Amino acid sequence: MGLFQRYKWIAALVSVSLTAIPLLWLTSWLQTQGEAEVAIAARWSIGLTDFAIGRTVNHLNALAAQNVDTCQASQIQQLRRGVFASGLISELSIVDPAGHTLCTDTGNTFAARDVIASTATSDRTIMLDVVRLLDTNEQLLRVRRLAPNREPMLAALLRPALLLPQVMSDGSAFVGYARMALPDGTPIGTSGTETSLYEEYLVKRIQSALYGAVVTVVMQPSGVIANYDDLRRIGMVVTALVAIVLLLFALIIPWHYRQHSSTPEIERALAAGELIPYYQPIVDIVSGKVLGAEVLVRWKKPDGTIVTPGAFIPLVESSGLILDLTRSLMRQVCNELGPTMQERPDTYVAFNIAPRHLKDAVLLNDVGSIFEGSSIRLSQVVLEVTERYELENLSAARRVIAAVQALGCRVALDDVGTGHSGLSYILKLGIDIIKIDKIFVDAIKTDPQKQAIVKTLVDLASNLNLKIVAEGVEQFEQVTYLRGIGITAAQGYCFAPPLPASMFVQLMQAFDKPAKSSGQNALPAPPNVNGSAAKRTKTA
Ligand code: C2E
Ligand code: CA
Ligand code: CA
Repeated sequence: MGLFQRYKWIAALVSVSLTAIPLLWLTSWLQTQGEAEVAIAARWSIGLTDFAIGRTVNHLNALAAQNVDTCQASQIQQLRRGVFASGLISELSIVDPAGHTLCTDTGNTFAARDVIASTATSDRTIMLDVVRLLDTNEQLLRVRRLAPNREPMLAALLRPALLLPQVMSDGSAFVGYARMALPDGTPIGTSGTETSLYEEYLVKRIQSALYGAVVTVVMQPSGVIANYDDLRRIGMVVTALVAIVLLLFALIIPWHYRQHSSTPEIERALAAGELIPYYQPIVDIVSGKVLGAEVLVRWKKPDGTIVTPGAFIPLVESSGLILDLTRSLMRQVCNELGPTMQERPDTYVAFNIAPRHLKDAVLLNDVGSIFEGSSIRLSQVVLEVTERYELENLSAARRVIAAVQALGCRVALDDVGTGHSGLSYILKLGIDIIKIDKIFVDAIKTDPQKQAIVKTLVDLASNLNLKIVAEGVEQFEQVTYLRGIGITAAQGYCFAPPLPASMFVQLMQAFDKPAKSSGQNALPAPPNVNGSAAKRTKTA
């Protein structure tokens, strides 16, 4: 799943591209379907043509069997009867071996005509001529029965339109035409309208094995499959919809996963006690004493891996489990640090609290019920409110802060300088401690503007009687600088990283022998339990 999240855009693009496959498949299916139908139409056309020519040949054979081969009046009578009987033949005639018409069923008078091209069947019994009537310019197919020994022959004229089928879809609409030609390409005629109006054509050409005539069928794809265009449009719309749905899924699933799927995992971890406190010492940089610690949560997985909070705190906060987590950390801290802190009443422990805590009295109740009567005094508890996020309801936050201060706790404003509140949170929330963010500590030597801001904060803290802690101190020269401008408390890798409880306790024992005499501490003296902040004095 993590992999899917990381590559979600690639996954989205791949899945959208995959939707093109059905569209390509549909297009190719329609093409194949169209080709199959035009082939059927062409076979049907050549079949009809062969059938008509075959019937004509039968009529010619019947007349030949009656020895009709002269232009005598009686034989012309027979030709005329033959035309009537066939219902298909336009004209019967006697032609000389060169193909010139000697007489027709209408007698000796007939329209002048040209033979444009001819082809013979392979057994040389039948000749197909393309004949043009000179008076009407009409082009017809002439079927000639080849007689042996250069004798006059019987011939029949056929209108091509009668030979070729109309090319229709579902028998209802013209969707193309059939064209008939001799093998050499000489056109004989066309059924339907030969048109170039159609955008795309499906073309099939078939030659008759019997007589050699060539039929070419041209069809419009949209006519071949009744709803070709509709199908294609539906295919495109469906594909687009599927693509959109896939895209949404590809983007929503990781989001959904973040929102919901991990929650049971965090819930389980919380119940299993895998979310544990680590302690980062906060040091008095003048006396070198350990003032206390900030509690930083760690997820200790069953396999022993330690996960830092950046990876799960946002989820804990958005899932509403943050109240449970803070409660659990406070209880664990009570157990782990209770005796150590009881011996050192001037030390404190700081908890990070989320904006959610500042909405109602839950935090107040939790802090009260967990620390009241415990070995950690309420005066040893500091709650860190971050300036990073905007607080939804400033006056509610102010009320919660005042209430926990009334219990005896102190409140620190965390990450000062990173949020958008400017000085307003410092002034409005009534906090006790300012924690200057690491970015200011880092910029101490390089950025005069940030230097000025830090100095302003030091002045402000001094005027408002607030304590300052510098965060993320990594180098000794930063310590020297901070000390120089009047900052007395700091936290950072320079002193120690966040430590597991046992190590932090050992550190306390090694560094800070039980402070029998208080007042050495660089932090303001904690207020008494019903304490008012006004009584506090700044000692640093
Ligand atoms: P934060 O409250 O600003 O905590 C300070 C962070 O800076 C900690 O990161 C700490 O390990 C790190 N840090 C301390 N000294 C140095 C240093 O010298 N150099 C550098 N580069 N980093 C230093 P961590 O433990 O990963 O915690 C990150 C954030 O997660 C915390 O920032 C805090 O906002 C949040 N967080 C941690 N524990 C809790 C918790 O129990 N509840 C809530 N609501 N948030 C928590
Ligand atoms: Ca903090
Ligand atoms: Ca911080």
